[in-house]
Amino acid sequence: MTDSKMEKVNMLYETVAQSVSQGNFPHGVLVECENEQDGVDFAHYIANCLVCRGETKPCLKCADCLKAEKGGHPDIFETDGVKGKSKNFTVDAVREIRSNAFIVPNESDKKIYILKNGQNMNEQAQNALLKILEEPPTYVFFIIVTTSRSTMLETVLSRVQTYSILSDEVKISEKEENAVNSFVDALLSVDELKLMEATAVFQKNNQFAKSVIMLLSEVFRDALVKKSGYTREMLFPEQVNALCMALTSKSLLQLVSVCDKLIEAVDRNCNNNLLLVRMCYEFKEAIGR
Ligand SMILES: [Zn+2]
Repeated sequence: MTDSKMEKVNMLYETVAQSVSQGNFPHGVLVECENEQDGVDFAHYIANCLVCRGETKPCLKCADCLKAEKGGHPDIFETDGVKGKSKNFTVDAVREIRSNAFIVPNESDKKIYILKNGQNMNEQAQNALLKILEEPPTYVFFIIVTTSRSTMLETVLSRVQTYSILSDEVKISEKEENAVNSFVDALLSVDELKLMEATAVFQKNNQFAKSVIMLLSEVFRDALVKKSGYTREMLFPEQVNALCMALTSKSLLQLVSVCDKLIEAVDRNCNNNLLLVRMCYEFKEAIGR
């Protein structure tokens, strides 16, 4: 691990301990990692914090901490959801977890499910998981570990808080930052002219458009997460706030899917003028104007 990554990860560990101590840890968490073992280690740490009965979490002294550390805590479950030869996290595994989750904890006042192999959870399995993520029993916590966030359904992502332990820091140029700002402004002011102006900077440059659309998509996702009552580290906190207040979840979801479609269009090497026209039109549609 590089120094900056180490620092970032240490900060995440602290954030978790704090949020558990304050009693506002989310019931659904996604741990995004490059190396599954890093993600699983982090998930174990979260689980340990959650079951700890000490004052500072994890105290590493209470009976729950000791059991969690040895990997033998009866209320911490860990599975990769694999049945048989396929590497998939199966829908049957999710169903089993779902019915198990309604049985009250053994020793702790919480029950934690560490779901590894999230990148191999197909749509059917994710939809099954969504049902319980939407209304989990108060004592249940899910930690999904994945090496690829992009394989998760939007509906699932909007229900979980993401902790990312990827090494690549996102570097945003000033030009990109300005483009994102004016775009969000235009969307919020519902001014068609402003929207056209904001898109104009992408003229003759599909790749620049793509990088900004990717950032916008992240901003819309963050706003969705915020709407569901969670907070996470955000690249554009002000813009996210404003969008979260002004738009419905439905509009935000639609904006995310518009971004996906536009990115696909760029990847198919679409005509730049058409892309810009489409951007204006689809974004306007998404916010219902
Ligand atoms: Zn403890």
